Amino acid sequence: MNRPSPRPQPRIPTPGAAPRERLRVLFAAAEAYPLAKVGGLADVAGSLPLALARLGHDVRLIMPLYAAVDRARFRVRDTGRSFALPLRGGQETARIYEASLDGGVPAYLLENQRLYGRPQVYGEADDLERFLFFGQAVVEAPQQLGWAPQVLHCHDWHAAPALPILHRRRSQAPERYPWASLLTIHNLAYQGPFDDRFASEAGLREYLPEGAIGGSLHSFLGLGIYYADQVSTVSETYAREILTSEYGYGLEPVLQQRRRDLSGIVNGLGEGDFPAQDPHLVAKYDAKSLSQKAVNKAALQRRVGLPPDPHIPLLGMVGRLVEQKGADLLAEALEPLLSRAQVQLVVLGTGQKPYEEALADLARRYPRQAAVQLVFDASLASLIYGGADLFLMPSRYEPCGLGQMIAMRYGTVPVVRRTGGLADTVADCHQGSERGTGFVFVQYTAKALLGALGRALAAFQDQGAWRRLQLRGMEGDYSWEASARKYEVVYRRALERASLS
Ligand code: ADP
Repeated sequence: MNRPSPRPQPRIPTPGAAPRERLRVLFAAAEAYPLAKVGGLADVAGSLPLALARLGHDVRLIMPLYAAVDRARFRVRDTGRSFALPLRGGQETARIYEASLDGGVPAYLLENQRLYGRPQVYGEADDLERFLFFGQAVVEAPQQLGWAPQVLHCHDWHAAPALPILHRRRSQAPERYPWASLLTIHNLAYQGPFDDRFASEAGLREYLPEGAIGGSLHSFLGLGIYYADQVSTVSETYAREILTSEYGYGLEPVLQQRRRDLSGIVNGLGEGDFPAQDPHLVAKYDAKSLSQKAVNKAALQRRVGLPPDPHIPLLGMVGRLVEQKGADLLAEALEPLLSRAQVQLVVLGTGQKPYEEALADLARRYPRQAAVQLVFDASLASLIYGGADLFLMPSRYEPCGLGQMIAMRYGTVPVVRRTGGLADTVADCHQGSERGTGFVFVQYTAKALLGALGRALAAFQDQGAWRRLQLRGMEGDYSWEASARKYEVVYRRALERASLS
């Protein structure tokens, strides 16, 4: 019997497998690992381009060439191209050098001895002028390189001056600057504020819009938010929080105006940030060999001088001892905890003196329960992630936060406040529930923190359920690949919006 030949099936694209257009993206950031690193921005600017390149995009980075960049180690080469730009009544020259980030991502480094020939990345008296020039040069450099981006992706206030400048150039000569733009805010507290005099000298006055909104835009970050095609920050919850006066640091009016173009994407962790690969651990482990964590716990107790005890719950904290991180709450909550409960505590961090002193005092008064190390120490940090049972992160605000994600990867259960990236990455484990990856509290009070700690300590008593809780955290996807796919979507939104404007 003749059977009708099957009709060709229409190809149904599976989600995530749709053919992608290769995008050209220029990352503009003041620091990028491994070339120069001061804080978390360098990790993002060093890792995200590689994750995007792996998805098939042509991503390049541009940053200043500081004296601290090791030219020999990173094989920094002169491209032979240079250009001059006006700067506050004078003129400055940038010479373009070239190097590579990990994975071969090209990096363009702007040399100007007067502005960047200093060891420090930030903290100079003329930072405003240094990064105004950077922003101008970011827009100019592609014209010299014969390679132009489709999307200019600026990070934080240091690169933000490029955004009003690009906007102006694009409206004057769209064929020369057909680039869309995205500004990513890593921490809204740093804005690069300027006064009227600087605005006049720097030629920024023309970018300040009329009306009330213009009054709130006297900062590089404010101008960037106003002029970028898209704005993102490093978690969905922080993207909502910064629309309020509590978290907006005075920029909430312009953020509210841009709210339809504002999104949040959490950062990822590095590929080496796994307990199975961590050279600082005494015993490496993964989900299948989680019992090895006990070896690290014993090593941690020995190293910080606490009595070795496999059964006592051990609380760890690694982070800056500043109000943002909840250092004031810790100082208030830990005393009643140590006096009432059978727990041990290890704190590693540096920060504001009063918090350092309060914690050091606690360690003196409870020497068998609390150890406080006021230093920066990557190997002790690893041992805390690998050896502690619980990880404390009671932040007042937290744009994304890495500590809680590292802790979960290491099977260390986080106790966090429901804010910013902590709210987006840690799900609360209700009493007796087989869901959730940590313990979450809402109010910024010592009482609320103690409440979450009480729940955590009660849960610790049931070791079977505790192990399943640890495993749920370890199974989470904290990779850059997941974040890079979300950035792709935002790039496309920026391209759409740029084509409309
Ligand atoms: P921040 O706001 O400080 O960037 P994150 O949680 O995003 O906070 O990242 C901080 C990173 O720095 C984490 O990986 C944490 O382990 C590490 N860190 C912070 N303080 C110390 C310290 N004193 N010693 C070692 N590592 C630290």
